[in-house]
Amino acid sequence: MPYSSGRQFVQLPGPTNVPERVLRAMARPTIDHRGPEFGRLGLEVLEGMKEVFQTSGKVVIFPSSGSGAWEGALTNTLSPGDKILMFDVGQFAALWIQVALKLGLDVDVVQTDWRHGADPQVVEAKLREDRDRKIKAVGVVHNETSSGVTSSVSEVRAAMKRAQHPALLLVDVISSLGSIDYRHDEWEVDVSIGGSQKGLMLPPGLGFNAISDKALAASKSARLPRAYWEWEPMLTQNANGFFPYTPATNLLYGLRESLDMLREEGLQNVFKRHERHGEATRRAVRAWGLENVALDPKEYSNSVTAIYTPAGHSADELRKVILERFNMPLGTGLGKLQDKVFRIGHLGDFNDLMLAGALSGVEMGLDIAGVPHRKGGVSAALDYMTESHREAASPVRV
Ligand SMILES: *Cc1c(COP(=O)(O)O)cnc(C)c1O
Repeated sequence: MPYSSGRQFVQLPGPTNVPERVLRAMARPTIDHRGPEFGRLGLEVLEGMKEVFQTSGKVVIFPSSGSGAWEGALTNTLSPGDKILMFDVGQFAALWIQVALKLGLDVDVVQTDWRHGADPQVVEAKLREDRDRKIKAVGVVHNETSSGVTSSVSEVRAAMKRAQHPALLLVDVISSLGSIDYRHDEWEVDVSIGGSQKGLMLPPGLGFNAISDKALAASKSARLPRAYWEWEPMLTQNANGFFPYTPATNLLYGLRESLDMLREEGLQNVFKRHERHGEATRRAVRAWGLENVALDPKEYSNSVTAIYTPAGHSADELRKVILERFNMPLGTGLGKLQDKVFRIGHLGDFNDLMLAGALSGVEMGLDIAGVPHRKGGVSAALDYMTESHREAASPVRV
C-alpha cells in the first residue's frame, strides 16, 4: 500500500471513528477483574448503559460482537420450536433470521423489498390471526444498516397492543443505539440488542442486552440451550459489578469514556446532531440526482444512508476509486444490494466538517469513476448545515 498522509475518513456505518479520548482511556493496564477497582468500573458502565437504552431495568454486557447479543436475546427467552415473527427488511435482519433458524426456532418471515421497514399493520394482522398464541416473540431491526431504513418500534408495540397479544418484543438497536432516539422502557421493548462499534464510538467487541421484567420472567422457563449467553449468572455477578467470566476490561474503560462523552453532549443533542447530518447527506444525494434506497421519508435513517449507483455502474468500483484516491472507506452493498449500493455512515464521533469532507470525497469519486450525476451535492449539504446554524437560537457546535 502506498503511504497515505493525513487522517483516514472512516465513513462506514460501523466500526465508526473511535475518538482519541476513548483510545487513550483504553491504553491502561488490564486490572484484576475480581478486585475492588474492577467492581466499581463494572457498576459504573452497567449503570451508564441504562441511560443510553433509556431504561431503568437490567442491562448485560457480553464480550462479543453484536451477533452474540442476538443469540443472547433469543436463547434466554425462547424454547426449541417456538414461533417468532421476523421481518426480512435487509441483510442484518436476514442474518438475525438465520441465527433464529439455526437455534431451532420456527421463524415466520415477512418478506419486504428491503426499501421499507417492519410494517405495524402486518404485525397487527399476524398477531390477530394467531388465536392460539403460538407466536412467542416479534423480532424487529430498529435501524437496518444495509438499507438505511429505520422502523418505528413504538408503532410496532402499539400494533401488538391493539392485537392484545402477549408475544415478547425483541429489537436490534446495534446501529441506532447512541445515535437515533430509542426508548427501551417507554416503547415496552422486552429485549434490546446493542453493539459497541457504532453509535457508542468504541472498537468492536461488546454486545448488550437490555432486559424487561417480562423478558426476565420468560428466561426462567425458556429452554433453548445457553451457557455463555445465560443472563442469570451474569446478573448475579453484575449486582457487584463483576462478571461470571473474564470481561473485556479495556473495552469497558473505553465504554466508561464514551458514556461520559454522550453525557457531556446530552443524549437528546446527540440525536439532533445525527438528524442534522442525516438530512444534510440526503440533500447531497438528491442534488447529485442519485437514489436513496429508503423510500419512505418517515423511515430515513439518521445514522447511515444507502445510495444506488445508476444501473450499469458498479458501486464497488466507485468505492474502490474513493478508497484509493481519498483514503476513505465507504460501506459496501450487502447481500442482494452488493455492487448496486454504497453506504455513507454518518454516526458516532462526527461533525459538520467531517461530513463535508466525506461528501466531497464521494462527489469527486463519482466524477473520477464516471458515474453519471449532477454537481452540487456538497454545496446542498453545506447550505443546509449553514442555514441550520443560523436558525439555531443558541450556537450549536457540532
Ligand atoms: C452491525 C450490525 C449487526 C452485526 O453486528 P456484529 O457486531 O457485526 O455482530 C447487526 N445488526 C445491525 C443492525 C448492525 O448494524
